[in-house]
Amino acid sequence: MLVPLILFSSTALNPIGIPVDGGFLQTTEAGSLARFQYSYDPQADFQELFARAQSQAGKRPPRIIKVLQVIVPDIEAEVVQADGKKEKAQSSMSRGEQELCRRYFQGYQSLVFANTNGAARIQPFEMVLKKPVKNLDPMGNGAYWLSAPTALAGVEKAIRENFFDSICVYYKKPDNVKAGLLGGAIGRDYGVRGSAFWTQWVHDWKAPVGPLNPNAIVSLHEWLHNVSYYTHQVMGFTAVPDCHAAEEHGYWSRDGGYPQWQAWNRDLVGKLIPSEVWYRFDTRSPERAPSSPAKGEEIAPGKFYSWQQVSGEWMSKLPKLTDKGLAQMTGITDLELKLEQFSDQAVCLRLTTSSVVASTYSTQGLESLPVRLDNVLAMKRLSKEPELDDPRGGYGSAPIESIAWIRPKGAAGEAPDLVLVRTDIAGPVMRLLDTVGRPADRSVIGYIHRTEPKTNEQVTLIALKVRLANPNSPTEVGLLKLGKKS
Ligand SMILES: [Zn+2]
Repeated sequence: MLVPLILFSSTALNPIGIPVDGGFLQTTEAGSLARFQYSYDPQADFQELFARAQSQAGKRPPRIIKVLQVIVPDIEAEVVQADGKKEKAQSSMSRGEQELCRRYFQGYQSLVFANTNGAARIQPFEMVLKKPVKNLDPMGNGAYWLSAPTALAGVEKAIRENFFDSICVYYKKPDNVKAGLLGGAIGRDYGVRGSAFWTQWVHDWKAPVGPLNPNAIVSLHEWLHNVSYYTHQVMGFTAVPDCHAAEEHGYWSRDGGYPQWQAWNRDLVGKLIPSEVWYRFDTRSPERAPSSPAKGEEIAPGKFYSWQQVSGEWMSKLPKLTDKGLAQMTGITDLELKLEQFSDQAVCLRLTTSSVVASTYSTQGLESLPVRLDNVLAMKRLSKEPELDDPRGGYGSAPIESIAWIRPKGAAGEAPDLVLVRTDIAGPVMRLLDTVGRPADRSVIGYIHRTEPKTNEQVTLIALKVRLANPNSPTEVGLLKLGKKS
């Protein structure tokens, strides 16, 4: 079915989006909602994020995160090639290249500040190794990486103990060494004086410096592995997604106008991770016991919450809803929410029941699911990588949904509809959702976090109970109040 596109001539840069919150919600040709952003021009989008971060940091001081950058100017090691031959492996950074490492690290700092909306600021520290590194870490088959403990062997004492939140190592790969990893990261294991660390070889010296430099983006990615460790194992925010989950969330390495997973990094850091996680970022508390409850698990369901009041801390302020909680709140006694994964690049959450429902109900498998408004929220990637200069950021035909919905047959009461919304666009969607009675952004009942048992894939959604104004809409866009003041 063809659904007319919504066109807004006033947003010249973003011809096919729904303006909200100073940016726009991108619609797909199937009438679903793909992403929220400010511009498809990566520089313009980043500048907008940065300006907002600065304004927010003026109102509330950011969490300071101390990161030590270790620059390794010289490597003089011996390696064993795949054929068993021993060779000398040598690299040397010029002064200019060392300066570039600093600039890449600055780009990473800007990314953290802008993407966290000013909730976190990296306080940089620097150490340039005076002596050559003599060993690399073998990964088998002639491939190597350089871990922080190996890079810092013999100079550990120079690192302040239990002081840094992360330590990163920048090095130049010797030409005759096969790279095992572009970078690698490890949580706090009380090596390297008690900090989590990551390491990366600088792989592109020619790209323009700035926040969109590939080395800056690699730093952000590897640091996010440290963040996963701290949020899950120290802070108990177990619904923080893994930084590798981009493909299952429908992203390409190039989309939204961005190269190199930047659209994903932006949404992960700024939207899927609530701001309070950054404001309270904790790297020094002891690791939590695996059996201790995750955030939200101890909160009983049954209340309505205002998104405005919980948006920055929904992961700890909202109840984490189980199937039992959902069944209680909807009156559908056998209601279940299942996470299914069809491939590395597709995932869906499906509300299932054996009872008759008044809303559109899909039973198809993930591979043949229509993109429409129903009981399923599916995210798949396009089969082909979009072009960076696509005027719709590559999202026009993207098989990405943001809303799943179910209404029990003959449901009475003021809020018969259970609506699940993707967390990264929950704020803008709730502001625009057309309801009868209580507004959507004051109808939040909890969050849902599910893990697929085989692949460990995770999806998190915000749950609402409302009465939709347009329950016959076949599309997500049709649920929104457009043209009316929101
Ligand atoms: Zn990784």
